[in-house]
Amino acid sequence: MAMDKWAAWVGGAPYTGAGEYFTVDEPATGHVLAEVSKLGPEDVDRAVRTARTQFESGVWQNQSATQRGKVLLRMAQLIRDEVETLSQLEARQVGKPIRDARDEVLTAADCFEFYAGAANKLHGDTIPVSQPGLDYTIRVPVGVVGLIVPWNFPFLITAWKVAPALAVGNSVVVKPASYAPLTALKLGPIAQAAGVPDGVLNIVTGPGGQTGEALASHHDVDKIAFTGETTTGSRILALAAARVARVSLELGGKSPTIVFPDVDVDMVARLAVASAYANGGQDCCARSRLLVHRDIAEAFTERFQGYVRQLKIGDPLDPTVDMGPLVSLAHRDRVRRYVESGVQEGARLVLAPEAYSVPTHGFYQAPAVFSEVSESMTIVQEEIFGPVSTIQVFDTEEEAIAKANATPYGLSGSVFSRDIGRALRVAHRVKSGVLSVNSIKSVHLEAPFGGFKMSGIGRELGLEALELYTEVKNIFVALD
Ligand code: NDP
Repeated sequence: MAMDKWAAWVGGAPYTGAGEYFTVDEPATGHVLAEVSKLGPEDVDRAVRTARTQFESGVWQNQSATQRGKVLLRMAQLIRDEVETLSQLEARQVGKPIRDARDEVLTAADCFEFYAGAANKLHGDTIPVSQPGLDYTIRVPVGVVGLIVPWNFPFLITAWKVAPALAVGNSVVVKPASYAPLTALKLGPIAQAAGVPDGVLNIVTGPGGQTGEALASHHDVDKIAFTGETTTGSRILALAAARVARVSLELGGKSPTIVFPDVDVDMVARLAVASAYANGGQDCCARSRLLVHRDIAEAFTERFQGYVRQLKIGDPLDPTVDMGPLVSLAHRDRVRRYVESGVQEGARLVLAPEAYSVPTHGFYQAPAVFSEVSESMTIVQEEIFGPVSTIQVFDTEEEAIAKANATPYGLSGSVFSRDIGRALRVAHRVKSGVLSVNSIKSVHLEAPFGGFKMSGIGRELGLEALELYTEVKNIFVALD
């Protein structure tokens, strides 16, 4: 296949900066898929200045919220029109099963629709202050917003940020992940065709340490919304601190599924496999820590590893495949080192990756399941971001909660029990931003999403995301 060259998108047109490129590999083959413009700090500066000029001109923020909503609605439709192209690209650039890629592209369209409708629902308050007069609040866009996106759900997470940021009138500069910039780049022409004024949505590509840092540290970026690793998030906080820029962070996770003995063990085991191994475990919400009551531990472990064995691993473009390759060779090797560390630290490998035969080309990694693990083990504490899970046994409700909370993260989790009182008691005490009872669904476009502890700051999605991209202004009018 002829290698594609992709430009960044600045001021409503393709932008190649100094003409340098980096390569994007196709994880299923290990071959180069595309070359993409590698922008430097001066290019990021140009994108930010373009966004600033358009923001101050009022060309977008001064349109009525209803009108901005109509433009977002057209973006949603254009995404739906391109669902096949976008899904194929997404599947190929990260090795994601095509079935999942389609779902995610359609959910990204849903996300634009949600914020299209939400645009004119954001309003302020009137406040009964003690001075005679009228006191009221309005919400104004933050200004120029930098949106930094990871590779695991590249198009969907871009939508999570772009849609609310545009809905409330900001200008944005998006920095996609270097493993997966292609679908995000498609959003430039889509926004233009839908009627977003040129220069309001810009997309800069290049290495995080260079292009991303230039954006996060730019003096004229009012806010950074970041999704990615906790260490990168902490660096972004430090970069933003000097100018007191606004920052929201969606970071890593190490989420638990807690299983009490009064459940349908088979059904919960099947669901738990999906929540731990979907997207090859490359999911910030992956429930990779199974906490199982002693009475059902043996039966659960047997069923769980049985369902993991049934996962079909192979070509992501095959619609029957459950798991494709991991995103890169470096990431696959990192996951392998975690599996080795589990064995070295004394965990029992219930299901070894060697039990599978996976394609030898590309970046494939078969699943692993560990039991007999303790809280102190690396595989229980650190986010592996791959197809590896651990099973721990508990005896009491208190112990389950303590084990669930025994990591630095607090993003997601599931509790399974027929005793709804117990399930809710546990749900309230697990320190995480989202939690599902008798379900593995942890993300809803209409509801807030984000983490406690080292999993982040702020809430995306739902109406909360509109607050993330606006400032509150209080106005007092004397009436005497
Ligand atoms: P990274 O933190 O490595 O990268 C995320 C983004 O930040 C990429 O665009 C990257 O660019 C960029 N970046 C890297 N270094 C810098 C820097 N110094 N300054 C500015 N930008 C930088 O994360 P991954 O892409 O590896 O994503 C995986 C992580 O994301 C996991 O930890 C996962 O848990 C987390 N995640 C969290 C979610 C949540 O909502 N809580 C959702 C999805 C993922 P480049 O690609 O060029 O390096």
